[in-house]
Amino acid sequence: MTEPQRIADTFVVSCIDPRLTDDTTFYFAALGQTDRYSEMRIAGAGLAALGDANPAWTQALFENLAASRQLHGIRKVTFLNHRDCGAVNRWAGRRLSVDPAEELRVHTEVLNRAAEAVRARHPDLLVEIKLMELDGTVRVLPCAACAPGGFRAEAVVPAARAAAMGSLDVGASLQPTERGAAPRDPAGFTELARLRASADAVDPEADLALLTRGVTEYGLTAEQAQQMLESVARSAGGPTARSAARDTAAFLRSRQDRQGRIAKQDVLQAAQLYRRLVGQRVTTGEARQRVARIADAEGLAARPEGVWPLRSTAWLRRMAERAA
Ligand SMILES: [Zn+2]
Repeated sequence: MTEPQRIADTFVVSCIDPRLTDDTTFYFAALGQTDRYSEMRIAGAGLAALGDANPAWTQALFENLAASRQLHGIRKVTFLNHRDCGAVNRWAGRRLSVDPAEELRVHTEVLNRAAEAVRARHPDLLVEIKLMELDGTVRVLPCAACAPGGFRAEAVVPAARAAAMGSLDVGASLQPTERGAAPRDPAGFTELARLRASADAVDPEADLALLTRGVTEYGLTAEQAQQMLESVARSAGGPTARSAARDTAAFLRSRQDRQGRIAKQDVLQAAQLYRRLVGQRVTTGEARQRVARIADAEGLAARPEGVWPLRSTAWLRRMAERAA
């Protein structure tokens, strides 16, 4: 069989929920994936991969995945579930969102099973599992079967569960793991995390690979590895912050008018983009301040706002001065 032409990287499975269709498109655009993924929207997203939910949907999902693989040469499957999902609630038999920790646990379990189902049919495809909040924020969930030679489910799912229940605090990250073995060389893993943090790109695949190494080579639980990665990225200011600034600058430049001016609306939108890119680690006010400073550094001027004769360009300077 000849290798298909690679015209898409990823097969995305998202939900049909009308509240999040634009957020989903926006999210993949922020990852630079526009036109590089094929997408199947189906109720419950990852739930559809579980034969016990609805066999006809499972068949449709895997037929579409196989078609996309053949036609587009995809190498990865991303399941993007979301909070307050009607299909998953119906399947679980209760409104999961009344208990966010339990909801996270259920989605983590459903998506781990979805990943297993993909890799049972396509052992060479990577899988990512993610959960979108209703505000469009996305988190990557720990996954037992996602990466080639994937790590053991029992090492990961209890950790995810413990984290979901809030019983795993950051101080525990260097304690012996649930499997009873002390992390072999957490300092070595921190060193790897630092190297990763110095890379100038947001690369979920590289993060996932590093998490996998944390579990398989350093004896960490997925949650511990995730926490160590995050704390290193935070203390480094992070590749995330750097590449978020670069992507935001590109967005701003694309919105300037012929005189190199930008509208307040574009800056507010850029601040939203920036917040998503850094994983909501800054407040809206901080994000606006940073974006205003990025605009300034890019040499962009403010377009006057307001009603004549009170039109003013002072909004950008004010935004840059304080994180309101
Ligand atoms: Zn849904």
